[in-house]
Amino acid sequence: MDEVILEDIKQKALEEHIPIIMDETLEVIGNILKDNKPKRILEIGTAVGYSAICFSKYLSKDGVIDTIERDENRIKQANDNISKLGLENQIYIHSGDAVEILPTLNEKYDVIFIDAAKGKYPFFLKESERLLKPHGIIFADNILYKGYVMSDYNKHKQRTAVRNLREYIKEVTEDPNFDTEILEVGDGLAISKRR
Ligand code: SAH
Ligand code: MG
Repeated sequence: MDEVILEDIKQKALEEHIPIIMDETLEVIGNILKDNKPKRILEIGTAVGYSAICFSKYLSKDGVIDTIERDENRIKQANDNISKLGLENQIYIHSGDAVEILPTLNEKYDVIFIDAAKGKYPFFLKESERLLKPHGIIFADNILYKGYVMSDYNKHKQRTAVRNLREYIKEVTEDPNFDTEILEVGDGLAISKRR
């Protein structure tokens, strides 16, 4: 991986206020992926491809990442970034709304990274459970959303997002098929391992 190109992609995304994965969140996920060597990763929310590119180093041989994005401008930037690094055979972008695309997917994944519309997290969880292999792992980024999720703060304009993030946490922690940890790294990260 050309680290100079990767750093450029990261800096440009930060300048454009694109909410790419935070360094400490990436470190936590990277440490888990390093031991898991996943063959198939699904990402919901590509943006400009930064996180998918970072995850690609941990894929097993012939491993692939499917990633979903609906913003056409970001899809274009992501495709450019992926080709700059020669990762066209590892990272495949599905263009469109994840709410429509997820139900059309049928192959199973070792790892699923949820990082898109917060109001849709409960739906993304349902689809992820369907698409996850036994012993697979689901990561959900931004699960604590600036601390709103764990506070009694209710009147914020983002309350639909907060309600849905709380519902995600409730459903996944109560699900006997998963062991879940909620970490305060970055904007909050839920890690759910299927038993
Ligand atoms: N994973 C990226 C950041 C993703 S930011 C990284 O860390 O580098 C979240 C992205 O999800 C945005 O680009 C937004 O356009 C996209 N998104 C939000 N809701 C979506 C949906 N329902 N379907 C597809 N993409 C969605
Ligand atoms: Mg995020």
